[in-house]
Amino acid sequence: MKPKVFFVIPCFNEEEVLPFTIDRMNEKLNALVEKDLIHQDSKVLFVDDGSGDNTWKLIKSAAQNERFSGVKLSRNCGHQNALMAGMSYAVNFADCVITLDADLQDDINVIDEFIDKFIQGYEIVYGVRSEREVDTFFKRFTAQSFYKLMRFLGVEIVYNHADYRLMSKRAVEYLMRFEERNLFLRGIIPLIGLKSTTVHYKRQKRMAGKTKYPLKKMLAFAFDGITSFSIKPIRYITLAGFLMFALSIIILIYSIIQKIKGDVVPGWTSLSISIWFIGGMQLMALGLIGEYIGKIYKEVKRRPLFLIEEIADESLKEIE
Ligand code: UDP
Ligand code: MG
Repeated sequence: MKPKVFFVIPCFNEEEVLPFTIDRMNEKLNALVEKDLIHQDSKVLFVDDGSGDNTWKLIKSAAQNERFSGVKLSRNCGHQNALMAGMSYAVNFADCVITLDADLQDDINVIDEFIDKFIQGYEIVYGVRSEREVDTFFKRFTAQSFYKLMRFLGVEIVYNHADYRLMSKRAVEYLMRFEERNLFLRGIIPLIGLKSTTVHYKRQKRMAGKTKYPLKKMLAFAFDGITSFSIKPIRYITLAGFLMFALSIIILIYSIIQKIKGDVVPGWTSLSISIWFIGGMQLMALGLIGEYIGKIYKEVKRRPLFLIEEIADESLKEIE
């Protein structure tokens, strides 16, 4: 069976790079169809994420070719939401969806491998950057520290995987059951489960135009990712409070000994004890409140409790 593949490409002010992208994707799709790897109705779906330049015009004129289509969002909703918009639209027509960036930094030569994996039965295929030599030292360092920090905080993400991935129709439908408002796809998709694998590629240079992720946006993205997936920072506050409380007891003993020895200024003992004691108590109390907020935060996410991978009895398959 040849899968019908939709390529979802979010675009935010990409007029400089889009003409190249359209050309290269057109060639790639034709090649894939010719190789009999994908269904001939496969398409590229551009998502215009509220661009202020000629992006939408370019998309509309590309859409005269049957291989291309586009949706325009009413305003700039951000990369992650644009991806979600594209995927949830494409899932109505496609057997699987591949998401990639408009600047084609994700090497499109590995698409064949993605599709091979899909045909072998994998439902999520993660593109993993095996080299990032074209990135500046700074970008590489910040990005890799981010992956390490996320792991340390207990968020299960695929190392060096951005948003270049293939998902089956079912995986996208399952993704849509996560009702989070703070979308951080890299964190959610591993929670879907299903059979998944990785494909390695070399990250390319941006073909034209400038990055749409300046440092400020990158930091906001990282902070969002951490705070939407981990309540460990709150736990560390509780821990700090506890340590301070323990320390206050040691200081209490020490202060009393000094007081008995008599070599202290009047008032020092009570002051130093209260600073440590009250400080410790306050941090612990904050952490405790934080724990409850953390529970509320998990509840309001309304994540699905489970997703079914297989049903063994043919007669039970037709409920939906
Ligand atoms: N993008 C988007 N909305 C935004 C910011 C970026 O749709 O608000 C898109 C952008 O057009 C590109 C992709 O997200 O297709 C990745 O952005 P970029 O290549 O600038 O990021 P970098 O590769 O530098 O991390
Ligand atoms: Mg890029």
